[in-house]
Amino acid sequence: MTTEELLKRVIALAEYVEDLDKRVRILEFNSGLTSRSRDPIMWTNDKPEPKPEPPPVDRSAQVLTSGKPVVSDEHKTINPATGQQTAYVVLTAAERAKGFVRPVRSSYTHMTCGSDTYMAREIAETLARDPGFYSGGFCHKCRGHFPLDQFVWKGTKEQVGS
Ligand SMILES: [Zn+2]
Repeated sequence: MTTEELLKRVIALAEYVEDLDKRVRILEFNSGLTSRSRDPIMWTNDKPEPKPEPPPVDRSAQVLTSGKPVVSDEHKTINPATGQQTAYVVLTAAERAKGFVRPVRSSYTHMTCGSDTYMAREIAETLARDPGFYSGGFCHKCRGHFPLDQFVWKGTKEQVGS
């Protein structure tokens, strides 16, 4: 074999390897594999991504617990049998789905009387999304609405709304 022939073979081989490399990269691209995910050491050393903070709340995204839009103060009419409003303002399901900044808690204690009140899920989730959304709380035993500093989350000393 002459030097020229040998050189031709070397060049051909180099082109072949380059072509192979391209094909592998196309395969990786198509399969979603990357050299990173094929490397088990890199993979196990990966730390889980920190959960992103939920976006700031949009308090204008409101709806009534009755499912109706908030158009007037009519929902604030008190039902004399229960002492509750006919409906309560909550954040929309889409707004609540953007993420909570507090755990979803379903009951709180009225410190004045020691009685627990359970909330509808929409209200509990609204408080988890936006702890300062409400200015007062309802007590089913006292049948009335009171400032939030009279309420703590059931089993805690943590004030509702904080
Ligand atoms: Zn009470």
